[in-house]
Amino acid sequence: MVIMANTMDYELPEEMVMLRDMARKFAAERIGPNAREWDRTGEIPLEVVKELGELGFLGVRVPPELGGAGIGYLGMSVIIEELARQCGGTALMVSAHNGLCCAHLMVGANDAQKKKYLPPLARGEMLGSWCLTEPGSGSDAAALKTRAVLDGDTWVINGSKVFVTNGSRAGVYIVHARTDPEASKAKGISSFIVERDTAGLEIGPKEDKMGVRASDTVPVTLEDVRVPRENLCGELHKGFYDVMRVLERGRITIGSLSVGLARGAFEESVRYATEREQFGKPLAKMQAIQFKLADMATQIDAARLLVRKSAILQDSGKSSNLESAMGKLYASEMATRVCLDAIQIHGGYGYLKDMPVERLMRDAQLCEIGEGSSEIQRLVIARQLLDLPK
Ligand SMILES: Cc1cc2nc3c(=O)[nH]c(=O)nc-3n(C[C@H](O)[C@H](O)[C@H](O)COP(=O)(O)OP(=O)(O)OC[C@H]3O[C@@H](n4cnc5c(N)ncnc54)[C@H](O)[C@@H]3O)c2cc1C
Repeated sequence: MVIMANTMDYELPEEMVMLRDMARKFAAERIGPNAREWDRTGEIPLEVVKELGELGFLGVRVPPELGGAGIGYLGMSVIIEELARQCGGTALMVSAHNGLCCAHLMVGANDAQKKKYLPPLARGEMLGSWCLTEPGSGSDAAALKTRAVLDGDTWVINGSKVFVTNGSRAGVYIVHARTDPEASKAKGISSFIVERDTAGLEIGPKEDKMGVRASDTVPVTLEDVRVPRENLCGELHKGFYDVMRVLERGRITIGSLSVGLARGAFEESVRYATEREQFGKPLAKMQAIQFKLADMATQIDAARLLVRKSAILQDSGKSSNLESAMGKLYASEMATRVCLDAIQIHGGYGYLKDMPVERLMRDAQLCEIGEGSSEIQRLVIARQLLDLPK
């Protein structure tokens, strides 16, 4: 059977092939067999989080001297694709931890903050969350209302955040809040490190989601949350620029997650079409099914190339704002299409929870929404193509 991941092997350096094989083996043995159950219960066991930490998958870009694996975005892309091939929820947990929380610390934190928070995050001793979205500000993220006011040597934070990935058990939350209400939207925002046990930080119940259910999503309320002055992460009033830098890179992980889900749906479809017989022959012998499989494979490979292009740009120190948005847009919409085709190939059985394709399809839809919806990616792309103001 064709394994889609191998079509790009000629592009992968030797160490990436080893990383891919390690991630693939772990995902197939430890995640795949449990994915349906975690989708039902909405929880990934803590021992699996620990194992992910031991493999270096929770500190992918964190430098080795701070306990991480020190691998770049190409490696991140390879790992996330392998995890998502088995379970979108696990891939999202790892993706948000690395691509949002750790990434923000890498971009904005000072040396002391990095030394304090990155090693336990990278080792998997605690998970990280990143709190941007609010009830009134999603796509229009710079309209956030959470407020942070300096009182002597402490910041006092008040506000409500929603859709916080890993929020139910994170040890640290990167919270974005308005520090200058007079400044125009994006200009008066700063980011703060809030530890879990801080008084006034309330974690709401888990959302009952359509997909990526193994990954927890919660609302977080901050009521007179006091953090020391030194918990400001990055420059005062300039947090939103760090947010944009984080999202530019985070979109590489969501693109990779999309490719992994689509690959899972494709591989399941090849398997099923080869085994299932109708009209006296396997489905795979019917040209209509062959054409579907051919289109699925082509789109997956195209998406992977686009996503890895942005990863390679980041790893060579270049901006990938345009390419990350293109990769995320194309890969996420491709994943939805491919997963729907996979269900069609499985017929009525694809509609049952017994088959992984219905879960993969539910997981895929998230990729068109999280970290900037498809519509927002089109705006980001068009603005750059036409050189329009942001
Ligand atoms: C499972 C999950 C996990 C998440 N994890 C996190 C997290 O860890 N941290 C975090 O901060 N957030 C997280 N989010 C939030 C996510 O980033 C937002 O849901 C997303 O940015 C969209 O915001 P919204 O839901 O408020 O939709 P809205 O902004 O209300 O958008 C609704 C619709 O309108 C469209 N739209 C909005 N503005 C425009 C425009 N200008 N032009 C055209 N169309 C437009 C959107 O594309 C969308 O289709 C998560 C969301 C989910 C579902």
